[in-house]
Amino acid sequence: MPLSDEVKSYLESDALTRFLRYVQVHTTSAEETGAHPSTARQFDLSRLLEGELRELGLRDIELDEFCYLYATLPPGPGVKGRTIGLVAHVDTSPAVSGENVKPVVHENYDGESIGFPDDPNLKLTVEDSPELEDCIGDSIITASGKTLLSADDKAGIAEIMAALAAFGKFTELKHGEIRICFTPDEEIGMGTAKINSDKLPQYCYTLDGGEPGELEAECFDAWSATVNFKGISVHPGFAKNKMINAAVVASRFLASLPEYETPEHTELREGFFHLTGISGSEEEAQAKLIIRDFATANNERRMDHLRHLKDLFEFRYPGLKIELEFKHQYENMWTVMEKHPESVELARKAIEMAGVTVKQKAIRGGTDGSKLSRMGHPTPNLFAGGILFHSRKEWIAKSSLGKAAETVVHLAALWAERGA
Ligand SMILES: [Zn+2]
Repeated sequence: MPLSDEVKSYLESDALTRFLRYVQVHTTSAEETGAHPSTARQFDLSRLLEGELRELGLRDIELDEFCYLYATLPPGPGVKGRTIGLVAHVDTSPAVSGENVKPVVHENYDGESIGFPDDPNLKLTVEDSPELEDCIGDSIITASGKTLLSADDKAGIAEIMAALAAFGKFTELKHGEIRICFTPDEEIGMGTAKINSDKLPQYCYTLDGGEPGELEAECFDAWSATVNFKGISVHPGFAKNKMINAAVVASRFLASLPEYETPEHTELREGFFHLTGISGSEEEAQAKLIIRDFATANNERRMDHLRHLKDLFEFRYPGLKIELEFKHQYENMWTVMEKHPESVELARKAIEMAGVTVKQKAIRGGTDGSKLSRMGHPTPNLFAGGILFHSRKEWIAKSSLGKAAETVVHLAALWAERGA
C-alpha cells in the first residue's frame, strides 16, 4: 500500500526533530575502558529513549545494566505476522569528538560548497561527496565544524522512533509485533558483547548503513593467521652454512605472497592477505596476518598457499621450523541469510516501495548484523542515510531520514501481510 503524503511528511519531520535532539547527546564510546558499556554517558541517550518509548506506548521496556534498551510494539489489530526486530546503536565513533554536537540545517541546498560556522577552513563539497548532487533543493544537516554529526547511528534510531510514532498516530498502517533493541558500543566492535539474543525475534534488521538504498546481507569470511619462524642463531663471524636468520626468512616468506592480493590492491568482491604485524630476530620471528574473502573456498585456497610456502621454505632452509596457526574470526552472514531469503527480499521490496533504488552491497568488514546472524538471527543492514561517517564533514539529507523511516513502515507492512 502506498503511503499518503500526510504520513510521508509526518515521518520525515518527526525523524528530523528526533534526530536533531539525539545528536546533541554525547555518547562517544571508548576502546580502552574494557567496561560494558564502555562509557557511562551512553546511558544518557538510552534513558531519554526509554522515556520516549514509554510515551509512544511500547511495552516490556527494559534498559539493562549493560545499556541495552529493549522494547516491544504490540501488533496492530488482527495482525498475526511474525515479530521482527529493529536494531540501532546509541554510541558514536571515538575517532572524532562527539561532544557538544551542534547540528546545522542547511535549507534548500543549492549545489555549492557548504561551510561550517565553528571552522571557517572546513568545506563540504561535491568532490568530498558526489551524493550531494542528488540533494539540490533538499535540506542538508551537518555538524558545526568541531565534531562529527553522529548520523551513524542516531539517524537509524530517529528513523525507527519516527516509524513507531507513525504506527501510533496513523492506525491504518499495518504492522505485526516489533521488537526494538538499541545497543551501546557498536563502534568499538562490542555492540553485541552483552546482548541477550533470547530477547530478540528470529528476524532482525540493523538500520546502520550509509547512502539511501543501501542494503547489506553479505560480509567477509574472516580468518587470522600467525606464522612463527624458528631459525638458528650463530655468531655472525662463524655463521657460514650454519645460521638460519628467522627475521630474514620471515621477510622473504612474506615478500613471496601475491602483491595483488592485499587490501591496497583489492576492492568490491576481491579478497586479500593483509600483514598486520611482524617482529623478530635471528632466533625467532613472528608474522600476523588477516585473511579475508566473501567465499570461504577462496580463503581455504589462501590458507593452503601458506601451507605450501611453509613446506617450500622448510625444504629450502634445512633446520628451519615454521608453525602456522589459523583462527576463524567471523563468517560471511550470507551463509545464514541464504537460508532465509525472504528476510532480504522483503527489505529489498520495502526500499523500492519507499521510492528508492536498492544498492545491494557486500560489506568489506564485519557488522553487528553479522554477529547476530551467527547467533541465529538473520540480520540484513538497511541504510540510515548518513554520508562521510566518522568525520567532521559527516552529513545527511532530510529526505533520507524520511525515506529510511518509510522503509521501516513498508517493511513492517510486508511482514504483516506475509502472515505467521
Ligand atoms: Zn554505525
